[in-house]
Amino acid sequence: MRTYVSVKITINKFMSRTLTRSNQHWKKANRRIPLGVSSNFRYWGEDKTIYVDHGKGGRITDIDGNEYVDYRMGYGPGILGYADSRVDEAAREGMATGGVFALSTELEFTVAERIGKMVPAAELVRFSNSGTEAVMAALRLARAFTGKDSYIIVEGGYHGLFDAVLWYADIEEWRPTAGDPPIEAVSEGIPQILKKLAHFTPLNDANYLEDLLKRHHQDIGAFLIEPMMGNCCSITADIEYVQAARKLCEKYNVIMIVDEVKTGFRVARGGIQELMGFKADLCTFAKAVGNGYPISVVAGREDIMRKFGDGVVHGGTYTCHSVALAAANKTLQILDETDALETIADYGTDMQNGMQRILEARNIPHSFVGHPSMGGLFFKQTPPTNYRDWLDSDYSFYDAMAAELHELGILCEPDSREPWFICQAHAADDSLSRTLQAFEKAVDITLSKLNRKAVNA
Ligand code: PLP
Repeated sequence: MRTYVSVKITINKFMSRTLTRSNQHWKKANRRIPLGVSSNFRYWGEDKTIYVDHGKGGRITDIDGNEYVDYRMGYGPGILGYADSRVDEAAREGMATGGVFALSTELEFTVAERIGKMVPAAELVRFSNSGTEAVMAALRLARAFTGKDSYIIVEGGYHGLFDAVLWYADIEEWRPTAGDPPIEAVSEGIPQILKKLAHFTPLNDANYLEDLLKRHHQDIGAFLIEPMMGNCCSITADIEYVQAARKLCEKYNVIMIVDEVKTGFRVARGGIQELMGFKADLCTFAKAVGNGYPISVVAGREDIMRKFGDGVVHGGTYTCHSVALAAANKTLQILDETDALETIADYGTDMQNGMQRILEARNIPHSFVGHPSMGGLFFKQTPPTNYRDWLDSDYSFYDAMAAELHELGILCEPDSREPWFICQAHAADDSLSRTLQAFEKAVDITLSKLNRKAVNA
């Protein structure tokens, strides 16, 4: 059993935030917009939902004037920072191009060439608007190419908001002795008939995957994986697992779709595939591609991608809007040709080192998972290797601490399953020291409020 050094603090001293205007606005907005927001995930409760006035660099200011160092960065797109003048200047030039034409422009090829250079698996490239659309297109391609409709999702993985992937392994009430966790729909309105097409596998268990494929490979056309789970603490696959999965996909004629919507152009120029040294059959990108402008990518093997135009439909009115495309061109150029990604990773490492010092001084068991540019903080000494491990961590401590951080002007996701996203602009001001000071206070306040002697006691 661990004990903490004694913690004496005055909680009220640090409570300075008010959300009066946000609260008032929520009441007004909720009359016209369900939950007062345009995405369920932006609703944090009647008195905690924040409305943004503006963002700049690595910070946002809400309509009450509270400024936050933001580590959500819009769930990852803000790789350089909000209102980045280099990208916004390019976007303005894109505006002058005229928008969408139901025709293509030359710039699409330029951006596709850049992506092909940065990501070797991207032999051919198509653009969409959102991560959801890109994954949807990849899954359609895989099914068309293999002639098989079923697919595998990794437990804890998230692939967007279309029906085929809105299933999840429900581990919150599950106990490891109970066999595999039940598979549930994320939402009402998902046809139950689709459930039989989705198979689930825990990360980092190649035997489980092999067994699943042995039994169902006649029906399974795709294996969807985020090797670093951007919606699940950044829990990361072992390289051996990825290599084994790669081989199994080849053996059983299954298309390996690597969903790099969060890791792409963030954890390395060539994403997680570069870090781990392997190639997907198909891969998807969004988020960092355009520093927040809506654009996404489905890319991959030429023989599969050529199915677009040879039986498989893909497109959309807003695909390759000239503003988003110009922003992507600039963002990718910066990420490819400057040391922005190194700056981001260094900041993440420094932040984690600082947090580690604070937590160790209080004997709080913890581990960091994933890449420092999108690290997960996990309150258990041993890092998780799959989603089921998350259950063992002290996530209630995380949740309570996150709420304190918000009060202190540090915006991380309230749910511990979301990593901390770093942008280049964080490194350009005093965000790091501000974050670590607030982190120390938040930890102490949480210990005091929860009346904890030890996190895992
Ligand atoms: N895939 C992954 C790995 C994601 O993290 C997300 C979104 O967070 C998506 C797909 C869906 O992307 P979007 O929200 O742009 O539709």
